Amino acid sequence: MMESALTARDRVGVQDFVLLENYTSEAAFIENLRKRFKENLIYTYIGSVLVSVNPYKDLEIYNKNHMERYRGVNFYEVSPHIYAVGDNSYRSMRTERKDQCILISGESGAGKTEASKKILQYYAVTCPASEQVQTVKDRLLQSNPVLEAFGNAKTLRNDNSSRFGKYMDIQFDFKGAPVGGHIINYLLEKSRVVHQNHGERNFHIFYQLIEGGEEDLLRRLGLERNPQQYQYLVKGNCPKVSSINDRSDWKTVRKALTVIGFNEDDVEELLNIIASVLHLGNVQYGEEDGSACITSDTQIKYLARLLGVNGTVLTEALTHKKIIAKGEEVGPLNLEQASSARDALSKAVYGRTFTWLVNKINTSLTYTDDSSKHYSVIGLLDIYGFEVFQHNSFEQFCINYCNEKLQQLFIELTLKSEQEEYEAEGITWEPVQYFNNKIICDLVEEKFKGIISILDEECLRPGDASDLTFLEKLADTVGGHPHFVTHKLADAKTRKVMGREEFRLLHYAGEVNYNVNGVFLRCVKTVCVCVCVCVCVCLQVMCMSENKILNQCFDREELSDKKRPETAAAQFKASLAKLMEILMSKEPSYVRCMKPNDSKQAGRFDEVLIRHQVKYLGLMENLRVRRAGFAYRRRYEVFLQRYKSLCPDTWPNWQGKLSDGVATLVKHLGYKPEEYKLGRSKIFIRFPKTLFGTEEATVIMN
Ligand code: ADP
Ligand code: MG
Repeated sequence: MMESALTARDRVGVQDFVLLENYTSEAAFIENLRKRFKENLIYTYIGSVLVSVNPYKDLEIYNKNHMERYRGVNFYEVSPHIYAVGDNSYRSMRTERKDQCILISGESGAGKTEASKKILQYYAVTCPASEQVQTVKDRLLQSNPVLEAFGNAKTLRNDNSSRFGKYMDIQFDFKGAPVGGHIINYLLEKSRVVHQNHGERNFHIFYQLIEGGEEDLLRRLGLERNPQQYQYLVKGNCPKVSSINDRSDWKTVRKALTVIGFNEDDVEELLNIIASVLHLGNVQYGEEDGSACITSDTQIKYLARLLGVNGTVLTEALTHKKIIAKGEEVGPLNLEQASSARDALSKAVYGRTFTWLVNKINTSLTYTDDSSKHYSVIGLLDIYGFEVFQHNSFEQFCINYCNEKLQQLFIELTLKSEQEEYEAEGITWEPVQYFNNKIICDLVEEKFKGIISILDEECLRPGDASDLTFLEKLADTVGGHPHFVTHKLADAKTRKVMGREEFRLLHYAGEVNYNVNGVFLRCVKTVCVCVCVCVCVCLQVMCMSENKILNQCFDREELSDKKRPETAAAQFKASLAKLMEILMSKEPSYVRCMKPNDSKQAGRFDEVLIRHQVKYLGLMENLRVRRAGFAYRRRYEVFLQRYKSLCPDTWPNWQGKLSDGVATLVKHLGYKPEEYKLGRSKIFIRFPKTLFGTEEATVIMN
């Protein structure tokens, strides 16, 4: 039996990386992943962390039978699965009454969103339900197609790429039934509304509406059934995607909106806005004496009607700016300024509508049962992993900063809780050496002297502030920091690979050069103090809109000069701080997603790409930390019950003290005294050699 287990192990690898003999070797790590991937075993643990490799094909492992197999079963007793993570969190929440969170990370296309959907489905199927709860379950599930329609798009890396970060709380009542939810969204990629790279698309909803919208609806919205007619949809030259059926997706989304509780009016107002964005994109400018003018009023007519604004006022707003120095006085815009004002307005309208949508969904998911306000929570975080491109800008900066914060959290929560368990069990152990990335978090976020503070100051400083003054100020303030490099201060070798307009951060996962060229400052400034002050005038018009949604999205207050505007960077920092607070109060589980190749193909395992992700997900460090402790732990009674048949002295029943029985059993299995420890209620094994923790183990034991 042992032999067959070993040959099987040769073939399918180990199901927990802590079992790897050569655990410091990245090559062995990758080889194990590869073996398993070839056998369609896409899940592997590092202790309690689940590593998942996107199979890019449908596997028969998500049906109801599978759900049942994982329900209420201990993590290590069955083969690794996303359901095991979901179930484990659910059980901890129920038995320990502690809120949980599941943090899913990985790069675009790695399978994060699919993983979070699978967990949600698992709860929807396996948790108890009543009639009222069924509505909540439906709404929780249906919030996905809606958010994906408005927040996902086809990119080169993923046909259904989420262009926003998402944290979702699922609330459970004391019986363990899901009774409500709450969603927080992060950093929607608004630039996609007005521009798409070659081979990419705008957000799905535009194509769904055009392809699937009923005739009279399109007529009313003034839309043609041809995406190529719209400036905002032609940039990527990719109106159709083979894996996407916009028409049937439209039906799904329409239904989902109804389930979530949108009435006809809400839907109408929402679609008016979506259509308006397309019309805005088609507003064409001409030039007269150096000033921009609108050459055709077709779009303005539609816009005026759909948004409920005065056409003349809107035309004026799209071609003029407020001259700040002269108070309320307005002056003309040139051609370039006018089109960037228009685009900024489109982005603002879309971005705020998206936030409104999330709020609306939240209202529909609100737990309304007043009789028992007490509920427990499982949070799902589906957020972009570390990003390193050829050209990295403000967006990557935010994403990578977010990952630094999550790593901080991982250190605080995982290592700390690990330590606490050893203490509680009365076990002595050597603390693990690991890199604490707090120093990098501080570099980014510290008050007054962190990068974001400096960026803020530069953005809001009137006068000659520019990308380059920002860079200079950075060099002056944090130039000496061990994790920061600028071109000016770099050594000759680094200087060769760094542009003059770049600074480099040495992140915990690796080095990234960020380019400040132009986009940096512009991205950071909120619309109010945007490079084009003219947007201010447009915002004023939006405040006057009769569209109920826009009315809630645009607030006169923010236009008053008294209020110091917040920069996008400061906003992001604040929202991350809040997220960390939420996560800190919960017990975390981790899912690390990877993609096997860049061509979305089943069966192809690209080692270079995988190695890159192993590095940026910090998996080797993760494994090292896990190995330094005890990889396997189990309560005495559970351990005995499960493995007593392997030793004649413990079979069929052990009569004495549980810890003695366990000691007898592990000795019989060939463990040396230094390889395990007996705590107050649990056995800890440093690295279980065979049996526990391989797929075959389960088979053999049964
Ligand atoms: P991410 O959210 O990390 O960008 P997605 O979750 O959207 O990535 O996954 C990208 C695509 O990969 C999905 O649309 C799906 O086709 C495929 N995929 C991801 N996870 C799985 C899985 N577990 N099984 C089958 N296909 C998957
Ligand atoms: Mg996603």
